[in-house]
Amino acid sequence: MKVAVIGGGASGMMSATMIARKGHEVTLFEKNEKLGKKIYITGKGRCNVTNATVGDEFLKNVVNGKKFVMGAITRFNSTDTCEFFSEVGVPLKIERGNRVFPESDKSSDIIFGLEKAMRWAGVNIRLNSEVKKIILKEDKISGIVVGEKELNFDAVVVATGGISYPATGSTGDGYEFAKSVGHSIISPVPALCAIKLKSSECKQLEGLSLKNVKLFAKQENKIIYESEVGEMLFTSSGISGPIVLSMSSFINRFEMNKIVLYIDFKPAISHDGLIARIDRDIINLKAKQTSSLLEGLLPKSLIPHFAKRLGIKLTEKANQLNKEKRKSIANLLKNYEYLPLSLENFNSAVVTAGGINLKEVNPKYMKSKLVSNLYFVGEVLDIDALTGGFNLQLAFSTAVTCANDFKDIKE
Ligand SMILES: Cc1cc2nc3c(=O)[nH]c(=O)nc-3n(C[C@H](O)[C@H](O)[C@H](O)COP(=O)(O)OP(=O)(O)OC[C@H]3O[C@@H](n4cnc5c(N)ncnc54)[C@H](O)[C@@H]3O)c2cc1C
Repeated sequence: MKVAVIGGGASGMMSATMIARKGHEVTLFEKNEKLGKKIYITGKGRCNVTNATVGDEFLKNVVNGKKFVMGAITRFNSTDTCEFFSEVGVPLKIERGNRVFPESDKSSDIIFGLEKAMRWAGVNIRLNSEVKKIILKEDKISGIVVGEKELNFDAVVVATGGISYPATGSTGDGYEFAKSVGHSIISPVPALCAIKLKSSECKQLEGLSLKNVKLFAKQENKIIYESEVGEMLFTSSGISGPIVLSMSSFINRFEMNKIVLYIDFKPAISHDGLIARIDRDIINLKAKQTSSLLEGLLPKSLIPHFAKRLGIKLTEKANQLNKEKRKSIANLLKNYEYLPLSLENFNSAVVTAGGINLKEVNPKYMKSKLVSNLYFVGEVLDIDALTGGFNLQLAFSTAVTCANDFKDIKE
């Protein structure tokens, strides 16, 4: 069979390799001058290529499309990914949180490995080749349009990614291809991104990093998301860092002006436990000022803002704080409120949530239910996961799953 793979990212290179290994004539079209531009910037240039967890543990980190990818991540899991890279001469190592990186700490080695695998399998790689259209004739894709030319293919794999970091080439073309043949798109929203806040505090707190804190979000007083205990930081316009990125993936479908975000600075202590600690601290501080009390509880730069919110004077003697004041200190430490303005845009969102409607794709082979010789793999689908190597693994697992639909004609 003559197969076209559109997109030279993680999912495109993996599907092209696996289909070509079965003896098919595969051509991969990449609009950029080189392959894997997005892979190059992953993991801060080190590429967190997968996560050494499988099954339910892996699925816990999938935000959208859990059920849909269940089969795919079983068929080709993180162990298979490690084996794949080892076979092409790219040894990997496991770090904190089961995050897997190339031993060299170079994302370029991952691109090199994927390219090598394609070349070994005989994939015809066409760079600087932007696919403009896919052509539907009598309920089947007959080919694609590249530049001005119409090229015929027996099957087409769309691996064009989402629309985040568009400078890498992921500009949502796959959504247009899918729509042109009748597919519906779940509207794309940024995920794993920073959150802008309606607060002048951010500018002054810019660069402040908080460890061992927890975030939660409420809508109409109901908790809609609670983070794990972790790290966050203030930016000039809002908040970012690991627990903020995770939170963004869970609140990105909510109307920002209807939700409220909170920081719990002391997640390990209950509200009552915190009051008891404040009482103890005050006894130890004797006649010292409230500023000394707060210095034991918060980073210095936050203290003036905290005191302002409470309406207390930092020069006031700590042992003069009455029961109500102590209670409100504890309360604010556990519920420091911010109103979100918006999520950061696609230019800086690590992934795109939304994409090809999963109801119209058969998860057994990532095959369109509307057009029999059309496949979708990777981030173009309405799937996304948390940080930790899960998104690249989803790209690889969906790619290999798609290749499984192609008969092995080498046997
Ligand atoms: C800054 C950053 C860091 C990240 N770090 C990690 C990490 O460490 N670990 C992890 O698991 N995930 C990470 N991710 C997410 C991960 O990179 C993506 O989920 C994954 O690369 C998606 O792969 P893909 O093949 O589906 O799409 P993409 O990588 O987006 O590839 C799509 C390709 O298709 C090409 N293309 C698009 N349209 C056309 C067209 N019309 N014709 C021809 N070619 C076309 C594009 O140029 C692009 O090369 C990161 C993302 C970003 C932005």
